[in-house]
Amino acid sequence: MRIKAQISMVMNLDKCLGCHTCSITCKNAWTNRKGTEYMYFNNVETRPGVGYPRGWEKQDEWKGGWTLDDKGRLKLRAGGKVERFIKLFYNPDQPGMDDYYEPWTYDYDKLTSAGRKAHQPVARPRSLVTGERMDISWGPNWDDDLSGAQYARADVDLIAANAQGAQIKMDMEDLFMRYLPRTCNHCLNPACVAACPSGAIYKRDEDGVVVISQDACRGWRACVPACPYKKVYYNWETNKSEKCTFCFPRLESGMPTVCSDTCVGRIRYMGVLLYDMDKVEAAASTEDPRQIWRAIKDVLADPTDPAVIESARANGVADSWIDAAQHSPVYKLIKEWGLALPLHAEYRTLPMVWYIPPMSPILSRVAATANLAQADEMRIPVAYLAELFSAGDPEPVRAVINRLVAVRTHMRAKEVGAPEPEAEFAPEVLDEMYRLLAIAKRPDRFNIPAAADMTRAERLQAQREFGFCTSCAEGGFDA
Ligand code: SF4
Ligand code: SF4
Repeated sequence: MRIKAQISMVMNLDKCLGCHTCSITCKNAWTNRKGTEYMYFNNVETRPGVGYPRGWEKQDEWKGGWTLDDKGRLKLRAGGKVERFIKLFYNPDQPGMDDYYEPWTYDYDKLTSAGRKAHQPVARPRSLVTGERMDISWGPNWDDDLSGAQYARADVDLIAANAQGAQIKMDMEDLFMRYLPRTCNHCLNPACVAACPSGAIYKRDEDGVVVISQDACRGWRACVPACPYKKVYYNWETNKSEKCTFCFPRLESGMPTVCSDTCVGRIRYMGVLLYDMDKVEAAASTEDPRQIWRAIKDVLADPTDPAVIESARANGVADSWIDAAQHSPVYKLIKEWGLALPLHAEYRTLPMVWYIPPMSPILSRVAATANLAQADEMRIPVAYLAELFSAGDPEPVRAVINRLVAVRTHMRAKEVGAPEPEAEFAPEVLDEMYRLLAIAKRPDRFNIPAAADMTRAERLQAQREFGFCTSCAEGGFDA
């Protein structure tokens, strides 16, 4: 056993408003420079839809992530060393500007500097790449809020679910819609790291954050197609690749990422997970793609187990981090309560950003009857969610939805004095789930140990004493 620590995130999709605040605050913090215009370290996709970049889930096309060879060993989909070396000079799997979009601005100056005319001046779009005027026909949120059924129909997961016989309805009155915020997953088995010929991408030993050294990057771009989530971007100004840093300077101060901190729906939870490095390869090599999410859960270690604590200490994990892992909201949601699932675990990168699948707008009917077996009748088809979160296996999604319904029916029983329905968890646990999912304050949603070795109590005390910026301090705007 070799225990290491990983900062991880869970997003509760039921609460996402699709407001894009996370994307904008991230953009202002990290990608507001020349060459980064098209980069969205955090983006929010409308599902069903094609996502950003367009069709990023089509791994047969992009060759992202890992697969197994004839002997059941892991290999990059991009090919072996020789194939990848050849592709350094011409890579047909590289996404192009059409897959992202040509970034543009507007002739804002015209609005104030145009001379007196019969008509109002117009700010016309202008390409940020060529500087020329352009007609806009595609952008990063073009299919936002189902703005075109043709994009919904092109959703890879929708097509896959229908191929399994789901018969998802596409009439306007039957259509479903949800948001899917995405960042880099800071994977335990990152394909981007393995594909980089310069060794410029690495996983930080202390917190598992995957970063790109701008000094070491030589701009080969092998990481861009290798990431199956398309979360590495090439900066055309500096000729180097860039990606989400999980806001590591904030993490080092004990603060969550800026996308999490500013999330209007308070959908994000961040905390420490302990995991066994010795189990990573076997989990990623799990033969049945539908079992990989389960294998990842097995890699996560119980932070109260004395053997785990001893191994963590031996591997340099500070006591404050072990303490944080024992009080981690993320561990509770993923491991203890089984409410979160990874996005496309079948890519075999072992993502460390997990999701609580959304229930459905017609949940009230299910909750009222307290029948936990009705997940399949909900408006968001389980078959579709299963393509996203469990490689097409509906059972794990069904199990999560039934647990979420159990929380609702328990709270309803409490409120209206109805009999308590039978549930997998004790009423006190359902109360705790309700608090964390519905009304948790900032210190409950985020438990990030600062780089300095402090316990959580000491950190809270220090934050109270010295404070951070008003929007970030514990007890700040939303505590
Ligand atoms: S999601 Fe992030 S860590 Fe995982 S392969 Fe892509 S860029 Fe690398
Ligand atoms: S800020 Fe939060 S609620 Fe708004 S889109 Fe992002 S994840 Fe969803």
